[in-house]
Amino acid sequence: MASQVQGVVAMAKGEPVSLVTVVVPDPGSGEALVRVQACGVCHTDLHYREGAINDEFPFLLGHEAAGVVESVGPDVTSVQPGDFVVLNWRAVCGECRSCRRGRPWYCFSTINATQKMTLTDGTPLSAALGIGAFAEKTLVAAGQCTKVNPKARPEAVGLLGCGVMAGLGAAMRTGEVGVGDSVAVFGCGGVGCAAIVGAHLAGATTIIAIDLDPRKLDRAREFGATHVVNASSEDVVEAVRGLTDGNGANVCIEAVGNSKVMEQAFYARDLAGTLVQVGVPTPEMRIDLAMIDFFGRGGQLKPSWYGDCLPSRDFPMLVDLYLEGRLDLDRFVSETISLGDVEEAFHRMERGEVLRSVVVM
Ligand SMILES: [Zn+2]
Ligand SMILES: [Zn+2]
Repeated sequence: MASQVQGVVAMAKGEPVSLVTVVVPDPGSGEALVRVQACGVCHTDLHYREGAINDEFPFLLGHEAAGVVESVGPDVTSVQPGDFVVLNWRAVCGECRSCRRGRPWYCFSTINATQKMTLTDGTPLSAALGIGAFAEKTLVAAGQCTKVNPKARPEAVGLLGCGVMAGLGAAMRTGEVGVGDSVAVFGCGGVGCAAIVGAHLAGATTIIAIDLDPRKLDRAREFGATHVVNASSEDVVEAVRGLTDGNGANVCIEAVGNSKVMEQAFYARDLAGTLVQVGVPTPEMRIDLAMIDFFGRGGQLKPSWYGDCLPSRDFPMLVDLYLEGRLDLDRFVSETISLGDVEEAFHRMERGEVLRSVVVM
């Protein structure tokens, strides 16, 4: 029988979110019902509410979550009731042309639940990133559930489901940071701080954090930045070169989504260096680069979606590193809140007061 639970829904563009009753169907073929324990508040949830992703209102928000599988569809064998899981938005199909090329982290046909969750009047809900976890229970594709060590704190490891993974992966997977590398991270929000942590974990010896906000630069140091550059008062490219023997960084990670910042990151690289673009731009943004600089400087320009992660490979490994005390995910949790506090958490996020507010159920 379908469950009725409380969930945070964006009913119309730009309107404050509301806590309403959500009807969650029993899992069918290929699906799993998950009792959500914790879910982080991400900028993408706000973008859904603002209508910046698409117009398919109403949205059931929330997508950085951990919880326990409550029941599964008849043919599901990858997870079972009682499993502790982190939810992902990259359940790979195994059949698309990218999966067949052996590159499942680029899967072009990722899977979500087939059945829709609804309002009590039957109105179908669009689940944010195919997850919709600001709810006591959510229905997802079984492949969106990645089983991890149940000793981990849900509010910390749930963050691997989106922003923290994007940042860690930008450094460790897309940027392929190696031991002894120099890394510059542009923008020190949640994703940027996670990129700093990822660079540290991968063995980078020089990690330069760049931001306009001195509070964020202080925070970046706590996450492992060895140097900070305040972009409001310094020439960023010169500063990065000055901290890298005049050469520039091996890997520059743009975590803002801004053409001016991307240009700085491009020129702050050493010759043959890598530029990773993980900040999400808006449709009107353009870059204008001298083609001779693109060619002459060599190296790689790489966009990073979800940190090029493969959840089945990366989530259990990162949770193990967390439990061994080598990856401090707890530091990303600025505060824990309840389901009714999401609207206020959006405002705190916009004011730059928190790294992550995490709803705990
Ligand atoms: Zn695929
Ligand atoms: Zn997110």
